[in-house]
Amino acid sequence: MELRFFIETFGCQMNVYDSELVASILSQAGYSKAGSMREAEIVFLNTCAIREKAVERVIHKFQQYAHLKKKGKMKVAGILGCIPQHSPDRLKKELPFIDILAGPDSYDKLPEMIKASLKDKKLHEDIELTHSQNYDEILPFSENKFSTFITITRGCNNFCSYCVVPYVRGRERSRSVEQILNEVKHAVGKGISEVTLLGQNVNSYSWEGVSFAKLLNKVSEVEGLKRLRFATSHPKDISDELIQMIAENPKICNHLHLPFQSGSNEVLKRMNRGYTIEEYLKKIEKIRNVVPEMALTTDIIVGFPGETDEDFLQTLDVMKKAKFDNAFMFIYSERELTYAKKHFKDDVPKKVKNERHNAVVELNRSVGLEQISRDKGKTKEILVETVSKKRKSEMMGRTEQNRMVIFENNGTIKPGDYVQVKIGRADGVTLFGEIKF
Ligand code: SF4
Repeated sequence: MELRFFIETFGCQMNVYDSELVASILSQAGYSKAGSMREAEIVFLNTCAIREKAVERVIHKFQQYAHLKKKGKMKVAGILGCIPQHSPDRLKKELPFIDILAGPDSYDKLPEMIKASLKDKKLHEDIELTHSQNYDEILPFSENKFSTFITITRGCNNFCSYCVVPYVRGRERSRSVEQILNEVKHAVGKGISEVTLLGQNVNSYSWEGVSFAKLLNKVSEVEGLKRLRFATSHPKDISDELIQMIAENPKICNHLHLPFQSGSNEVLKRMNRGYTIEEYLKKIEKIRNVVPEMALTTDIIVGFPGETDEDFLQTLDVMKKAKFDNAFMFIYSERELTYAKKHFKDDVPKKVKNERHNAVVELNRSVGLEQISRDKGKTKEILVETVSKKRKSEMMGRTEQNRMVIFENNGTIKPGDYVQVKIGRADGVTLFGEIKF
């Protein structure tokens, strides 16, 4: 009997890419892809341990499907990625029917683990971090038709005090230029026109003398590629060479995701972020001087241990000065393994954390709307992604600044097309416009 697999992905774009790697490994091993969890004999959840809520969601998800395992339809149930690395004992306790636990460096062992589990019905676990695994020889199994993600670095060396990534994904390593170019060419050959290069800190990419800026240039030379994006950037590693490269190379999109986390130098120091807020703001000023059309997005954590009212006001102040298009805003929560959990008391009361979160959400809404409204009256090139969720007659796409645009379809436009849209109005984080011919 031919066994089918299904992978559900939780967390960031890097996990989406890893799921494509796993799909490729399993396809090569002779398994085929199922359309849903119910149809599959082999089910994996590829997980993220960044936040406690993510761990709870994954456990809840598998508990919901435990009956499929009991009935024998689901023959192998596995959990992949960061959570097995971070909390293996909790998974074993709360999901006793699990057959496979595999960390981010163990995906190539999955075919053997599946075979062994089918045979002996025991738990098979591999959460060894090699600090060198790059899966260089595997081309990911991507079903994307016009846009895809390609990982260029794995792991992280920064050890921000609140973050589990260096513990669950290991030390930073760059993939070879050759392998990255092969993957980009392969994707473009299948009709992909937009590629996003991924890493926890792409700016520290380095391979045999090739910096991240030089890598971007090499990738942009792949014929047929129209848009090149990247995420995430660490403020301390944004170089002048990179800023210049973005300004000069029309394929590199004018969008930078640059987490600042807190406006207070005291908090940034305790977070071990490696920059002061003055340095951060100076970098932004430089970026906007060299690339005036650059759209910035960011990450913010509120309620970090020891964050005072004054510290928090400084965060609001940075949001006003930096004028982000949008921010991903999080309430601090303790994570096992991290420096902050071991050394700082989680002393900001829940109520205060919630109030601060509400305040950043509110400010982000008004600043973001003001920023994207600057596109009103302009004609923008849009890469069409999908039919709009609200109205079937409308399509949704993005500008090179990664701003979402909704427009009425004339019946001929399909996902993957590039169209010119005149922007009429802005609402929330969305622009609305009319297609131009
Ligand atoms: S840069 Fe900091 S926050 Fe980002 S992955 Fe590395 S340790 Fe975590």
